[in-house]
Amino acid sequence: MTPNKISIKDSFLQHGEEFRVLFGQLAEWKNVHAYLICGEKGTGKRTLARLMGAALLCSAEGNRPCGCCRNCRLAESGEHPDLIRIEKGNPIAPGVKKDRSTIPVEDIREMIRICSVRPTDGSMHIVLICDADKMTAQAQNCLLKTLEEPPADTCIILITEHTESLLTTVISRCRTVRVRAWEDEYILSVLERNGAPKDRALEAAAAAGGSIGKALELVSDDEYWKLREEVLNQFLKSTSRSEVIKISNQWKDRKQDSEKLMTILESYVRQMTEYRFGAARTDLSRFPAQWQRFSEKAGKESFLRLSEALSDARKQLQFNTNYQAVLEKLIFAFMGEGNLWLSSSESVSR
Ligand SMILES: [Zn+2]
Repeated sequence: MTPNKISIKDSFLQHGEEFRVLFGQLAEWKNVHAYLICGEKGTGKRTLARLMGAALLCSAEGNRPCGCCRNCRLAESGEHPDLIRIEKGNPIAPGVKKDRSTIPVEDIREMIRICSVRPTDGSMHIVLICDADKMTAQAQNCLLKTLEEPPADTCIILITEHTESLLTTVISRCRTVRVRAWEDEYILSVLERNGAPKDRALEAAAAAGGSIGKALELVSDDEYWKLREEVLNQFLKSTSRSEVIKISNQWKDRKQDSEKLMTILESYVRQMTEYRFGAARTDLSRFPAQWQRFSEKAGKESFLRLSEALSDARKQLQFNTNYQAVLEKLIFAFMGEGNLWLSSSESVSR
């Protein structure tokens, strides 16, 4: 489930003037020797890199990449023989172990060797270095020499979420292309073009935090939508200590679901926040009564406490803290806020 190729290029063209300029230059082979694509996870950095590669390899006249010719199709699927892809754990250099968590200098040397040979289809070599921050210091220094004296007919594209892990000297040799988060509205239009059901599309667009990749993943992930129901029925419905313990026991061995669980809870809090303070009055009728009252009347500080509980939990999960303990603390935090609104005696007003 990916948007068709031409629409992705058009999307980038609409995403900012800089992309219009960039593709204009690529279409005339007025490229620089090295680009650095940076931006948050899921914003389409790799897609952009492949599109840039396709623009340089495309055999059509004028509007390139055309998206149709053999070179375009091979480049966009990453299969083009003149497209060299370097990433951690998938070495191109012979003799390098597969499970390395870094990009070793051997891969950079092998890339330089390949680029010194004429490209297969006679035009140029495109080098994609995915997660470029994973290059060892030695690999970066080796790359730096290449960037200082770039081989002819080679375009090197570095992709990273973490520019801070790259040598300043490497960065300064590249033209930086920053991919910003996408507007929810645009993500929604991509999802709808892909035939996603409206309710799922709306929620996935909002939950994806500007990442088209994440939104596309969410919308087609049936497991996620099942989990949403489960989280609603457990986390938001617990009102007593014993229920919290029961839920945390049920979830303690499901650490693999923790990322989705956090995304779901964050999305529920966002829905309630939008309901209370924003323009969007999403349907909360399936929420337990206390959370409906919360969404009608709670003050800013209550919402803030929930957000803080969520971001604390995220931080602790990163450091491998006891998963069940983190969960329990989080469910207690939700229960504490929800229970304040258990009584229906108070009249509800908007
Ligand atoms: Zn083409």
